[in-house]
Amino acid sequence: MSTQRVYLHTPKQTHVVTQVVAVRSGGFAVSASPFFVGGGGQPMDTGVVSVDGVNHRIEHVEVDADDHIWHLSDVSLRTGQSVDLVVDRQRRQTLSRYHTALHVLNTLALTHYDAWITGAQMTEEYARIDFAIAWLDPIMLADLEARMNAVLTAYHPVQYRSLTVAEFAQRPDLLRTKNVQPPAYRGQVRVVEIEGFDAQACGGTHAESTHEVGPCRIYKSENKGKQNKRLYICFA
Ligand SMILES: [Zn+2]
Repeated sequence: MSTQRVYLHTPKQTHVVTQVVAVRSGGFAVSASPFFVGGGGQPMDTGVVSVDGVNHRIEHVEVDADDHIWHLSDVSLRTGQSVDLVVDRQRRQTLSRYHTALHVLNTLALTHYDAWITGAQMTEEYARIDFAIAWLDPIMLADLEARMNAVLTAYHPVQYRSLTVAEFAQRPDLLRTKNVQPPAYRGQVRVVEIEGFDAQACGGTHAESTHEVGPCRIYKSENKGKQNKRLYICFA
């Protein structure tokens, strides 16, 4: 049995009481986990496992071939034991807000400038995004920032749904990356919809609404090559 990924459909649930299903030196796997495993430029979650009231740090999680999520920790556990897993909520929320802002930015860049995203990275301090585009100028940056903030300061709820891989293949409008297919999990592709604005395939975590993100600044841009321009954003 693979680990249930709680973050996929109830991302606000950062605390899960679950059972240990396997142990090994330096780690354990559970039946359900709130930990995001990393991907799409969003780093994996960190947090703690709480056992008998004592917290042990988890700085790293990984997925095995059977879709078990392993939590790396030197705590000593046994199979069948009940544990509390708690994700660092503030860090998760910051990464989720940046992730949501990048959805807004990549949609606006594609819609208004025909710029496809080629990469992204979220941190607790800023986020960056790369576009396959030949040029970038201050007017375009100011326009993108204004359009982004018009969305981020309005109230658009974020919703989730799943499509089968076959259904997804019929919906090229949900793709934001040209060369990389979004991850399918148990034959399903998760779609993230910013109501009234955009829907795209994505396996990460997001804010509950654009309003939760709030305004951002595009504070830096870099020329990373003839067809590659990088933008940096931070909360305003
Ligand atoms: Zn996303």
